[in-house]
Amino acid sequence: MSQVAHSAAASLGQVRISDRIRGDLVAHARADAPNECCGMIAAADGRLTSYFPAANEFNSPMRFQIDSGDQLRITNEIEARGEAIGAIFHSHPNSEAYPSQTDVNLARWWPGVLWLICSLAEDEPVVRGFAIDDGRIEEVELVGD
Ligand SMILES: [Zn+2]
Repeated sequence: MSQVAHSAAASLGQVRISDRIRGDLVAHARADAPNECCGMIAAADGRLTSYFPAANEFNSPMRFQIDSGDQLRITNEIEARGEAIGAIFHSHPNSEAYPSQTDVNLARWWPGVLWLICSLAEDEPVVRGFAIDDGRIEEVELVGD
């Protein structure tokens, strides 16, 4: 069975995402450009419920690491709501919305968690979602909610 089916947020290769959350992701990506931004997205009942922006510890246009204090605070907040970490989000200011090798390596630490990436490389921002399982990348369709 694929990772998509196991994750808190997705089923059958799809995940539901509201216009509000999608807007939050794009706004954060734009605010932190030219650096990569990052954050975590809570999930419940097979849908993404809210976005929690975090600081990028690397302050870099090429890579990200979620600030460890933010990660702890956000994880506690999500668990206190009885929800799960559904997705890790980060931006690609200058490249396509597809996981880099660095992202694939990082994903080993986040089993069952989807990856959402916002690219600012084109005129219009592009947000895509992926399950990354043992080095295999599987796109997850983002469906309006
Ligand atoms: Zn990346």
